[in-house]
Amino acid sequence: MKAFAMLGIGKTGWIEKERPACGPLDAILRPIALAPCTSDVHTVWEGAVGDRYNLILGHEGVGEVMEVGPLVKDFKPGDIVIIPAITPDWNSLEAQAGFSMHSHGMLGGWKFSNIKDGLFGEFIHVNDADGNLALLPEGVAPETAAMLSDMVPTGFHGVELADIQFGDKVCVIGIGPVGLMAVRGAVLRGASDIFAVGSRPNCVAIAKEYGASDIINYKDGSILEQVMAKTGGHGVDRVVIAGGDNDTFDEAIKMLKPGGVIGNVNYLGAGDYVKIPRVEWGVGMGHKTIRGGLMSGGRLRMEKLAALVQTGRIDPSKLITHRFEGLDKVEEALMLMKDKPKDLIKPVVTVKW
Ligand code: NDP
Ligand code: ZN
Repeated sequence: MKAFAMLGIGKTGWIEKERPACGPLDAILRPIALAPCTSDVHTVWEGAVGDRYNLILGHEGVGEVMEVGPLVKDFKPGDIVIIPAITPDWNSLEAQAGFSMHSHGMLGGWKFSNIKDGLFGEFIHVNDADGNLALLPEGVAPETAAMLSDMVPTGFHGVELADIQFGDKVCVIGIGPVGLMAVRGAVLRGASDIFAVGSRPNCVAIAKEYGASDIINYKDGSILEQVMAKTGGHGVDRVVIAGGDNDTFDEAIKMLKPGGVIGNVNYLGAGDYVKIPRVEWGVGMGHKTIRGGLMSGGRLRMEKLAALVQTGRIDPSKLITHRFEGLDKVEEALMLMKDKPKDLIKPVVTVKW
């Protein structure tokens, strides 16, 4: 089969590969909507998880089931399904302990375009189909549902990690597609004020539509100073980090009230250490919690998030700014993700068979 792959750090290209085989619990799909991700960019151009050769890229999409293993109970050929970015092994001890995303080792649920082939090929292998796939709900377009693979669950996981409560003042650092969903998640969780940090005009407009109360442009000076000025010097209760770099923790800790929580979902692509300021972290005693996590995956969670789209509580279709047709366009879409033109939030490629 034909596929678009990482060919080493900084290198991509089209390759021919064997069609994947279907194990007893697995499913084989073909893609009908695909989206590239900023994570693919960290993986290829920063070598963030190490070198990979001939590894098919992509981990966000919707597909049609072509084949299922004999032990798969709830899916059959012809079903249209949402493919989650994270596909844990649900019988692992880590999943039983509540950390499915780390099944069989840290980040082990992150298989696509990391430790196994991803979605940008003519056929896609999904492990543990009953545990991982979710049917496309009626009335939801495949291109919109592709935002449920990663953007919605990751943005929302940032909100869960930060443990946002009614009336909290929240800063969301980074309002690309992930941070935008975190803004929406913070609204649903009852935040009072949401300071959204970013600069691209489309992202700023959607952040306001999703419910951000203030926009902070990090290019206009220190985020910390801007947040402190807007909060009368008190700072915020919660911070979600969905952009920036290893030094972003410095400002996040400084703007956080004692007892506050940071939820990080940003993929730290380079460097060895993150920066935590000793004094503002209460010389180690400030009860300022830093949590960072990969989203959990799982069919139940996906069905619940899809229900939020179906009932109109969230509208991730607003993230889609660029549309392409045909599998061969995933290359162009990924390059857009790499170059991040000003009008980009998220590209989607639809594939007809
Ligand atoms: P984008 O690159 O589209 O968005 C990043 C955001 O951060 C933009 O708003 C950008 O501003 C802003 N930003 C950039 N530099 C700074 C800075 N120095 N200080 C503050 N803000 C800054 O990324 P995505 O939304 O696609 O993804 C966000 C992160 O989440 C990525 O690292 C991605 O790899 C990661 N991710 C993590 C997953 C997980 O499970 N944990 C899953 C999926 C993604 P501007 O408007 O100027 O561009
Ligand atoms: Zn992704």
